Order: sequence, then structure tokens, then C-alpha cells
Amino acid sequence: MSENKIPYKIYLTEDEMPKAWYNLRADMKNKPAPLLNPGTGQPLTAEELSPIFCEELVQQELDETTPFIDIPTEIRDFYKMYRPSPLVRAYCLEEKLQTPAKIYYKFEGNNTSGSHKLNSAIAQAYYAKKQGLKGVTTETGAGQWGTALSMACSYFELDCKVYMVKVSYEQKPFRREVMRTYGASVVPSPSETTEVGRKILAEHPGTTGSLGCAISEAVEVATKNPGYRYVLGSVLNQVLLHQSVIGLETKAALDKYGIKPDMIIGCAGGGSNLGGLIAPFMGEKLRGEADYQIIAVEPASCPSFTRGTFAYDFCDTGMICPLAKMYTLGSGFIPSPNHAGGLRFHGMSTTLSQLYHDGFMEARSVEQTSVFDAAEQFARVEGILPAPESSHAIRVAIDEAMKCKETGEEKTIVFGLTGTGYFDLVAYEKYHEGLMTDEIPTDEQLAASFAKLPKI
Ligand SMILES: *Cc1c(COP(=O)(O)O)cnc(C)c1O
Repeated sequence: MSENKIPYKIYLTEDEMPKAWYNLRADMKNKPAPLLNPGTGQPLTAEELSPIFCEELVQQELDETTPFIDIPTEIRDFYKMYRPSPLVRAYCLEEKLQTPAKIYYKFEGNNTSGSHKLNSAIAQAYYAKKQGLKGVTTETGAGQWGTALSMACSYFELDCKVYMVKVSYEQKPFRREVMRTYGASVVPSPSETTEVGRKILAEHPGTTGSLGCAISEAVEVATKNPGYRYVLGSVLNQVLLHQSVIGLETKAALDKYGIKPDMIIGCAGGGSNLGGLIAPFMGEKLRGEADYQIIAVEPASCPSFTRGTFAYDFCDTGMICPLAKMYTLGSGFIPSPNHAGGLRFHGMSTTLSQLYHDGFMEARSVEQTSVFDAAEQFARVEGILPAPESSHAIRVAIDEAMKCKETGEEKTIVFGLTGTGYFDLVAYEKYHEGLMTDEIPTDEQLAASFAKLPKI
């Protein structure tokens, strides 16, 4: 292996870090369908969005023509603390698998929040600060997004109010304490601090909460308190835009050594890391300059792409957020409680949904026990303890490398390793104890959920 020209880790210098984000929508002929106002059924305007989101983020959300948007210096300076992130050649995994495939992964877990979510959190906090706001509100489930946002807010001295799903607040105290270390106030949801929270508690005393309910509380607090806006960590176009830094760096690192990937693989929850990783490659594909096989990987227990329907739906369970045209399982769909692998969102980014619909990418669903098999296999040779979400991509990367072993093809595979799994050890424990099962929704369950889609 020593005579190999390509190093284990391809690092870019600070100067080589992207100076602008890439807006993939600018190169799409079929643009993603607009967000609709659930009251009027009309496309949402900037005026309607600005009481909820920061002004510049509203502009980014609605901008489908500007290909490159400069990354402000303040954000680049923060990025420099943990970026450029390494592109790693998985020599040890290749060796273990005895595959002729060449495997690379872009590692986004090298920051305290442990995932790629910080790339957008810092951008959103910056624009809130620039607008002179006092603070932001958000919801968090397991806590990755809340952790990233609290780090970003403390850097810009913004107040950060996180509504954390009550069951996670009680059962996952570690991320909660990281958030409090960064000065965020973390409220278990549903709570007595909002009208919607009090109403839910009166109707369902003892409820352990849901993401939909936490979103409703966070939005209420943002719209009722002057100087506050609501921020979201995935799904939205602005988030995919910020995450394009992942793909731009990946492309720059590969270009340094003249490597052209055959296949790009990423896990898909709301689609932000995948949308970011594939952005410049998909751009080339859309402009007819190159071709790549692009694969989204999702859990079999929450299969938005592979078994969902392409329709307008609510982004939240509480049905207060805008309607988005996306691959969805229905906003009332809740994955089985024993699904431990993350990626539980019922819908998908509108941009990725349109690209998938138009045949520019494929999707696979994988069962969680096989995801943890892959996670463990990877951890044992590559050293990194991967997040369960990231391990969905590892699963398919290994599967594809094993196919190459059969056919003798020397494909170049790139996948996104979105984060580390130190806070997910209860899930690893379940796996090790043999208590992890694969729950897959039935066609009847999905049909019942589709029947409740809004009629647009
Ligand atoms: C949140 C998260 C994801 C999934 O979110 P996307 O918006 O689909 O990228 C994947 N991996 C990790 C580590 C996460 O924290």
C-alpha cells in the first residue's frame, strides 16, 4: 500500500476551502415546487416567511437562479476551526473486504456537535445576528441539531431556545447537557411555556412529546417574541445550500488527485447532508458535463423515497408549517419506536425529491440490524465510531464494494460519513444485546397515512 500516491487523508488548505456555496437549483430545469401557504394554497412569499425566518435566509430559500452565493468571512472564519474536513481513503476497509473498489469517505464528525449540522447552524446564527435579532428557537429530537445550533449561537452571543422532545430530554441527558454548556435553554416539549404546549398537555396529560409538537412550540415562541426567529436544521433549500460546502470540498479534494468517482452515496433523513455532498456532482450531471451514480440510503422503517408518494404535504406533524411537494410517508407517519437508527423524518427535501422524480438519482432502503452490522465492521477497521445515520451510507458502500469483488470492477465509491455515534451507545447496546429488530411499515399502514394527505 505504501507505493500508493493517494494519501489516507486528503486535506485541503484553508485557502482551498470554498468561498461560495453552490445553489444546485440554479442548474435544475425542473425546479422544485414552491412551498405553499396552507391557508391559501398559494406559493409563500418573502413577506409571509419573514415573521418566521431571518430575512437573508428567506432570500436564500426562495432563490433558484443564483448559482453561487458568497460565504461571509465571519462564517468562513468559524468553518476554519473544523474545516476543511478530511476526505479519507478507506484503505483499511478495502483491505478487510478484499475489494478492488476504491472507497473514500468525507468525514463531518470532527467537531464537538459531532455532525455536519454545524455547517448550517453557524450560517443561520450568523444571519440572525446580522439582522440584529436577540435569539432563535428550534426543536430537536435526539439532539444533534440542537447541539450544533447551541454552539453556533454561543459563538455569536445569541439566545437559543431549544424545544426538546420530552422523551429524549429525559432519556438522553448527555446532548441536553452539551447544549446547556453552550448556554442554550432546553425545554422538554410539550411544555407549559407555550399555548400549544399547554393545550396538548391538557388533552394528553403524561405525553412524552413528538417532533411535530416541539416544532409547533418553537414556531409559536419565535413569532410571539419580538427579536426572535425560528430555524430548522434540515429539509429546507437554505440548509442544502449551506451543506454544499461538503460536496465542494469533496470535489476539490478528488480533483487534486484527478479522481473521478463512479458512485456517490449518502444517508437521507431530510436530505441536507446528501444534498450538500452531491451538489457539485449533480450540477455537472444536470449540465451534461459528467455522469455519476448517486444513491440515497434511508431506513426501511422510514422509507420516504422508496415507498413514499410524491405529493404536497405538511413538514410537521402539527400541520402548522408550510406545505412542501416532496416524497412523503404522510405527516402523521411515525416510525416504529424501536427504530434506533435516526433519519425518522416523514418527508424529504423538495430539491432531492424533484431530482429523484426526474431520474437523476436512486434510493435504497436498509434494515437497521444490517446498518449496525456495517457500523461495527467499519468501526473495527477505520477507527471511527460512526453515527447510526451515517452507517446507512456505510451499509450501501460496503454492499457496492462487495459487488465489485464479484465482478472485479475497480469502481471508485465516495460516501458521506456525517457524524460520530458516541451519544448513540444505547442503540449500539441494543444491537449488541440482540434486542434490535427490523420494523417495516406494511402497505396498509402506508396507505392509511397517504389517505390523510392534504388535498391540493
Ligand atoms: C441529522 C443527521 C443526519 C440526517 O439529516 P440529513 O438532513 O438527511 O442530512 C445524518 N447524519 C447525522 C450524523 C445527523 O446528525
